Amino acid sequence: MQLIDTLEQDLRELDARGLRRRRRTIDTPCDAHMRVDGRDTIGFASNDYLGLAAHPQLVAALSEGAQRYGAGSGGSHLLGGHSRAHAQLEDDLAEFVGGFVDDARALYFSTGYMANLAVVTALAGRGTTLFSDSLNHASLIDGARLSRADIQIYPHADADALSAMLEASGADAKVIVTDTVFSMDGDVAPLPRLVELAERHHAWLIVDDAHGFGVLGPQGRGALAEAALRSPNLVMVGTLGKAAGVAGAFVAAHATVCEWLVQRARPYIFTTASAPAVAHAVSASLRIIASEEGDARRAHLRKLIARTRTMLKETCWLPVDSQTAVQPLVIGANDATLALQAALERDGIWVPAIRPPTVPEGTSRLRISLSAAHSDDDIERLNTSLQRVSREAQERAR
Ligand SMILES: *Cc1c(COP(=O)(O)O)cnc(C)c1O
Repeated sequence: MQLIDTLEQDLRELDARGLRRRRRTIDTPCDAHMRVDGRDTIGFASNDYLGLAAHPQLVAALSEGAQRYGAGSGGSHLLGGHSRAHAQLEDDLAEFVGGFVDDARALYFSTGYMANLAVVTALAGRGTTLFSDSLNHASLIDGARLSRADIQIYPHADADALSAMLEASGADAKVIVTDTVFSMDGDVAPLPRLVELAERHHAWLIVDDAHGFGVLGPQGRGALAEAALRSPNLVMVGTLGKAAGVAGAFVAAHATVCEWLVQRARPYIFTTASAPAVAHAVSASLRIIASEEGDARRAHLRKLIARTRTMLKETCWLPVDSQTAVQPLVIGANDATLALQAALERDGIWVPAIRPPTVPEGTSRLRISLSAAHSDDDIERLNTSLQRVSREAQERAR
């Protein structure tokens, strides 16, 4: 058998198990209404929670950044690629989110995936025990594997179980890693308990605020600010391609932690710095996030979340108890979830089906992702469509 044939056989197996994924091609900016594979749809797939991805001020900032700094950075941050725009953004970020630690500094990365690889591998290594929530994002899991630390997985959001595992551990170096808002469930980690445990056990606590930054806390400063937490043990990761509407990510922590990352984190050192114009646009995004306009967008989003929670309770499926913009509807089987996605799509509603390995086996789901760009009317159209497919599913079950 040819090499290509073995791959084709594996791909057919994915098809048979309802696990083949397909990309959609979009002709319009990321917004509530998009042209997807040539069809007009209302999108509930993006993580553009504040509706900033197509904001005219950000588009203008991106082009201003390109005029000022050119198209590419030309090198890695340590070899000539670190521009004034990157430096300015890092100062802006440290100022904006750094209230959780003394002497805060921030480090800008091209993606959240790399920021997580960097921070986990720089703080954990051979001899470290790394305690990881069972529903953590893939990038934290990959960082843990790459670090060669001893990995212990604690049951999702279970601080008591984590406490017992820390108690039983004889490791000299300990690191706890968790999402703040879990990306496929929308629930929030028990952060105050985790901080307490980290301090008691001399552990770093790395929190990935990809879905909290911009949305939660005063001015959208994130989940740590919302819970009013402060600790020298805390290391925060935030991403800038979700609520911030642009691209990239950051690590915020005590200045010494960031300095250690500059010296040691391979995913920071051995890659070309992102285009300075992108950093320039992110700085503009931070100004909107922190402004009254940002507050208004968050207030509108909260209203949409409340409406969606009520709507989901009226379907035949069990909603997950999420207070955030991530509103999952767990269906179970892969094929049934894909069929529902297709049924909604026929009404011009795009809600993506999420399947393993993104979520555990048997918990495939529709992931409704809300944005301040959605109007009340968009949500009512989602409701009409969802209640119809729910009635049809109930009739089939009878
Ligand atoms: C999206 C996401 C990331 C990765 O961020 P990118 O900037 O998209 O690479 C990391 N962690 C979580 C929890 C995420 O949802």
